Amino acid sequence: MAKNIQAIRGMNDCLPSQTGVWQFVEANIRQVVANYGYQEIRTPIVESTDLFKRSIGEVTDIVEKEMYTFEDRNGDSLTLRPEGTACCVRAGNEHGLLYNQQQRLWYMGPMFRHERPQKGRYRQFHQFGAEAYGFVGPDIDVEMILIGARLWKAFGISDKVELQINSLGSAEARAAYKEVLVAFLQQHHDSLDEDSQRRLISNPLRVLDSKNPAVQEIVKDAPKLIDHLDEESKQHFSLLCERLDDLGIQYTVNTRLVRGLDYYNRTVFEWVTDLLGAQGTICAGGRYDGLVEQLGGKASPAVGFAMGLERLVLLVESLENQNVAINPVDVYLMTIGEQAEAKASSLSEQIRNAAPTLKVQQHCGGGNFKKQMKKALGSGASLAIIVGDEELANNTMTLKFLTQDKAQSSLDISALASLTSMI
Ligand code: ATP
Ligand code: MG
Repeated sequence: MAKNIQAIRGMNDCLPSQTGVWQFVEANIRQVVANYGYQEIRTPIVESTDLFKRSIGEVTDIVEKEMYTFEDRNGDSLTLRPEGTACCVRAGNEHGLLYNQQQRLWYMGPMFRHERPQKGRYRQFHQFGAEAYGFVGPDIDVEMILIGARLWKAFGISDKVELQINSLGSAEARAAYKEVLVAFLQQHHDSLDEDSQRRLISNPLRVLDSKNPAVQEIVKDAPKLIDHLDEESKQHFSLLCERLDDLGIQYTVNTRLVRGLDYYNRTVFEWVTDLLGAQGTICAGGRYDGLVEQLGGKASPAVGFAMGLERLVLLVESLENQNVAINPVDVYLMTIGEQAEAKASSLSEQIRNAAPTLKVQQHCGGGNFKKQMKKALGSGASLAIIVGDEELANNTMTLKFLTQDKAQSSLDISALASLTSMI
């Protein structure tokens, strides 16, 4: 036998038994973004490598070691998108969507990062993200958080996730703080791990969110960015907190939350859960007021977030009594005898025409009554419709209810629309 070809490590198939929960998640997302008046944007999966280098930052995990970058046949350096924000800004600038305008956008689709695959961390994964342009906040920052909160409610996971917020201040305030932080970390240089020693030079703020307990112990006493904010950012942040309090949205201020990407400023936030082990962040975002201009557009304030759908699906699946499993059909059409079998497709079409909301599966491949009934039961349908010579002659169909305690009955073809209310 030929050797099986397997999927790429860290890139998963989504099998029919899993698509039910994915569709449930996606449908709720579409509903909620519509609730808030956001418009969908779809951008290519491949972009110029420069886009990500210039936006995410050269000394970030993503750009340093996680991107799928390759040369195409023209010798251009292309990259499979590792995230959606840069793509959104690129498209917005290119098509004039962000020029002196306000926009509320959302996207959903696959992202690619060459990471070590583990639970909740994959090489192809999916994000839903929302981005708003032209609003200085903090009202819009609050809206971003409310979208998350409404989704958690729809998924029944509100009590499983916690909101953490912080402010990174302005670029200038952050630069000043960096010096204070570096001076502090230098004093503990030899106790830092190799990764943090490297970051101390390249991207010192990232030392703050090191996962290494020894480093965390040192960082506990480090000067806090939130104590070094510029006046306007301070006000922005206290207004944000006030509004969240008014709305009854619970949060904790995590002064070590810095986010891994270069482009953030002021408000940053994460929604985290402790039910998924180390991969506990299901949604992360913040303001990025400098990025639009940095990528060549006219300056525009911006804020957004991205949600990891695999982690969300894992979380939804981990809860009991979630009725989101498989998607069974409603009706299974069986035919008895050659004449009826020849008409099976046409009969199924008549049912679909008359009752368009029903999922109708036609038995294919022949076989006796017993074999067909076994398939009908296996399909999950609540109704089997049986057509034989007699039904054909009378223009009727026989209804056999598979999940309800109802007697077998006969339905005139002209009354097929009434099937909708029977199921
Ligand atoms: P992490 O700290 O877990 O690596 P990140 O800061 O790199 O996350 P972001 O770039 O902010 O993540 O992406 C937003 C969200 O996308 C994350 O909170 C997470 O839910 C999801 N995500 C990021 N990387 C992956 C991945 N490799 N596999 C699955 N989901 C991911
Ligand atoms: Mg990461």
